[in-house]
Amino acid sequence: MADPRPVTVVARRIRQANYRYLGFLIVQDAAGVQYTLPMTGTVAQWLLEGQELRLSTTRTEAIGFDDYTLAGEVPIWPLFARAYTLERRSPLSGKVLYTYTLLAREARYERDYEAIVELEQYHYASDEELIALWTCETCDLYIEANARPTCPRCGGRMRLHDLRSATRASRFLVLELQTRAPYEPQYVGYVRVDPPVPLMHRRRPDGTVEPNIRQKVFPPDWFAYPFHPEGVQAPSWWEAQEESLRTTRSPVSRLARVVIHPDYRADGLGQQAVRAMLDWVRERWIPEMRVAKEAIETIAMMARYNPFLEKVGFVYLWDTAGRRPVLYYPLSATAERRIAHFLRHDPVAREHGGKLYRSRFPTVEKLAGPLILRRLTKSYTNRLTLEHLSPAVQQLLEAFGVKHRVIQKFIFREAEIEIVPGGVHVLLGASGAGKTTLLRLLYGVTVGVDHPLYQPESAEVTVPENVRVAALIAGEVEPEFGDLPLAEALYQLTGDEGLAVEVLNETGLADAVLYRAPFRELSTGQKERARLAALLARQPNLLLVDEFAAHLDPLTAVRLARRLAHLARSKNLTLVLVTHRTEVIEALEPDLLYLVGYGTLYRATEIPERAFRVMEPYARYIVEGKKRWELRRYPTRIRGRVGVVSGGKLLGTVEILGSRGPFSLEELAEHQEKHLADPRFLREYAAGRPLYAWELGQARKFDRPIPIVARPGQQAWLKPEPQPEKEDAAT
Ligand SMILES: [Zn+2]
Repeated sequence: MADPRPVTVVARRIRQANYRYLGFLIVQDAAGVQYTLPMTGTVAQWLLEGQELRLSTTRTEAIGFDDYTLAGEVPIWPLFARAYTLERRSPLSGKVLYTYTLLAREARYERDYEAIVELEQYHYASDEELIALWTCETCDLYIEANARPTCPRCGGRMRLHDLRSATRASRFLVLELQTRAPYEPQYVGYVRVDPPVPLMHRRRPDGTVEPNIRQKVFPPDWFAYPFHPEGVQAPSWWEAQEESLRTTRSPVSRLARVVIHPDYRADGLGQQAVRAMLDWVRERWIPEMRVAKEAIETIAMMARYNPFLEKVGFVYLWDTAGRRPVLYYPLSATAERRIAHFLRHDPVAREHGGKLYRSRFPTVEKLAGPLILRRLTKSYTNRLTLEHLSPAVQQLLEAFGVKHRVIQKFIFREAEIEIVPGGVHVLLGASGAGKTTLLRLLYGVTVGVDHPLYQPESAEVTVPENVRVAALIAGEVEPEFGDLPLAEALYQLTGDEGLAVEVLNETGLADAVLYRAPFRELSTGQKERARLAALLARQPNLLLVDEFAAHLDPLTAVRLARRLAHLARSKNLTLVLVTHRTEVIEALEPDLLYLVGYGTLYRATEIPERAFRVMEPYARYIVEGKKRWELRRYPTRIRGRVGVVSGGKLLGTVEILGSRGPFSLEELAEHQEKHLADPRFLREYAAGRPLYAWELGQARKFDRPIPIVARPGQQAWLKPEPQPEKEDAAT
């Protein structure tokens, strides 16, 4: 690229039909050589004849879109494009759970605007049903539609002209996913920036109107040259805008839209889009590129229901005469000072302190104590019969050895589970292992369901007296929606539209289209999240969910898990979720993970990484804490909690505190009460060599030994893996 040389704008060539993605700027250098620069009309239209710029080119003729750079006081071309990485971290450990790699760039291609039209249909406040204008250049015809129509006159393919809600002054920044799974969209959001609104009055809470409020807070000349084409005598709207484009200048820009793909809302992408917009506006003086920007204003109804603008640093100042909240982001010290002054001295603003959003989801009263099922027994009986089958099938089954029989299986035998107040609990296990059964029992003992499915055969039950349970067990316990639109159903449940929207946002249903949709029109995954929203709306302090996130794709499931766990921890909600998906468990970061199955259940953390084999009765002595020295032919450097295995079962765990010795048999005889070993057995085992004592402590015996998978070989240490219990079958 050659050194930048000064050039002067000679002319612009823009056509109404396709100005969004095509326009030409003709500039001339000091030697009188003219260059035709292809760009977008959205940029070219702001550059005025006689304006001085700097141009670098790689060629002098037939200059393409990517063959030059152009700058005035700020860079003009190529358009702004910047990569951002958004790490979603665990609020507990700070560990990165997943990462978005995003590209924010100014819209340039027709396809960018088509994506914007698609996203616009998800916008909260889209008043218009038809949001895009399409054109046939051959027939000079414009048509409103939300998807590309064919020309009714010539049958040709129509091209996108503009969004109906946008003006010529609007500029768009699109957000693309750089790395994405095949089922993920390329465009996940967009931001639209405009000049500030021409006029703004304030409605005070007492109903009175304060005209031109902005001029009382900021320097009045900030709003002296608005984009205000209505006041101009011109033959058409297009030309009226053209006139206004020439005079518009303001140190304030307006954030006119932030639209995020519904699947990606409430995951920080809205904030990221706004941060990219801040860089764009600050560096390039968007939209008109004439004055450095000192503040950004936005009029955003949704800011009442969603805190993402305030999280980025927007400050709420007042409501418009039409009662829409107005927020400002200061970019300069002047703006910051003026805003601070207003918040200190205006009586209404002093009340709200610049804060608009208030979470409606209350902190619930935490469970007063743990929910415990001790010595829990539950079995399952199934009669296999061939009676109702046709003779041929009976014969076939008999040939395979299938006979009439009764299958009886213990789902839990003397098991124990403790649900900790405020904790996130995950029940994990193979399908059919008893996870749903356990959830039914937790629900049954909490609300007192009489049905045998919901009651243990025997158990010592402790239920905290302040429990408010909500449960989701598909086809059994689930909220009803009827035919009402989602938002209406939740409003009727809560009597608070803010809370209704908040629980929908929390479950990833932050989408105006979905708010209006009746339940039956939702996809399976959306139904699952809507049910969850309805449960949250009841503000329980204990939430039980079977097959959590089962119908969601991996990324949606992970996002939901991360949000729900965060909500639970910040609002004192106790969660018990059934899932077998490792990515979901990672995002939940459960406080307790219970493995269900094998006739028992146990905290996953209780299964040690390694275990050693010991003969009976010594194994039992160890886990009961009676045997505190394990005698071996060699010392060990292993410390910490390990398992004790005997007869193919994990009996419990113990901590290795240290290693002592060597000891002679005579010395060991003096410590008989520590190792409990029979002297004759010891002599045989030692075979003339000295022995070492592994010091043990903190013994823990399992309620029921856990059968483990047998591995060939006789190493001292093994990794215990629980083994599925076989059915107890009786013919
Ligand atoms: Zn046509």
